[in-house]
Amino acid sequence: MKYVLVSGGVISGVGKGIIASSTGLLLKTIGLKVSSIKIDPYLNVDAGTMNPKEHGEVFVLSDGGEVDLDLGNYERYLNITLTRENNITTGKIYQHVIDRERKGDYLGKTVQVVPHITDAIQDWTERVARIPVDDTGEEADVCIIELGGTVGDIESMPFVEAMTQLRRRAGRDNFLQIHVSYVPMIHGEQKTKPTQQAIKAVRSAGLIPDLIACRCQVSLEPASVDKIARFCQVELEQVVVVKDVGSVYHVPLLLEQQGLIPLLRSGLALQDLTISPALV
Ligand code: ADP
Repeated sequence: MKYVLVSGGVISGVGKGIIASSTGLLLKTIGLKVSSIKIDPYLNVDAGTMNPKEHGEVFVLSDGGEVDLDLGNYERYLNITLTRENNITTGKIYQHVIDRERKGDYLGKTVQVVPHITDAIQDWTERVARIPVDDTGEEADVCIIELGGTVGDIESMPFVEAMTQLRRRAGRDNFLQIHVSYVPMIHGEQKTKPTQQAIKAVRSAGLIPDLIACRCQVSLEPASVDKIARFCQVELEQVVVVKDVGSVYHVPLLLEQQGLIPLLRSGLALQDLTISPALV
């Protein structure tokens, strides 16, 4: 199983869900089967009890699961059917670990965030990524994991730690991270400092962004892309620009035009997978 982790920094609502769905769609266009998992680091077990005015409408899955509306994006973009387990929340993970603790599954050990919660997150992710999500009934090749919230929030720390460990568990060429940042425009000038700081924060948390997706109002000037690449120590092509568009269904094209497919192919060693030649 290969994983693409989409995380975010600088502001909430930066566009992680749309970028994650669009990345999944591009992988589908080259013949891969794609699944997805949304991580919501809140304590609610699911979105069913949350005020839609604060959080947006609840999305109801065909198994009756009441989940974050991003799961709806995944189902629409990728033409897949997800289960309630494809939405992981802090509440669900703690409930699962506490239920196991009450049954005595930890054999008298002190149950801790690290390693018990972080292991539970990884086990859950690995298990759910393998649930077939389309009518072929086959396991997906790639699972897109969207980490809700922004890296650096107290709530998301166990998930961040779990993802750093999952990269190792998944093995070389099986894990790629896209970190979504925001480049504000102030008095007509694009400001890259929040992105530089977001990348520092994500690295100090142990994550390694392979691609930096920059949300911005208008396309980034070459000088801004160059600055981000230079100060974040990545190659120019690892900086992907995601400007505001009239319809979010244009985002896959925006990514494709910037060479995301070859970047995903090399980052995930996709040439090793057997892909239908008609679709390549
Ligand atoms: P996050 O997952 O980071 O919270 P979302 O992907 O849900 O963010 O996007 C937040 C809002 O911004 C949504 O209403 C979405 O439709 C909109 N949005 C995302 N990307 C773009 C874009 N490139 N252009 C215009 N609107 C966008």
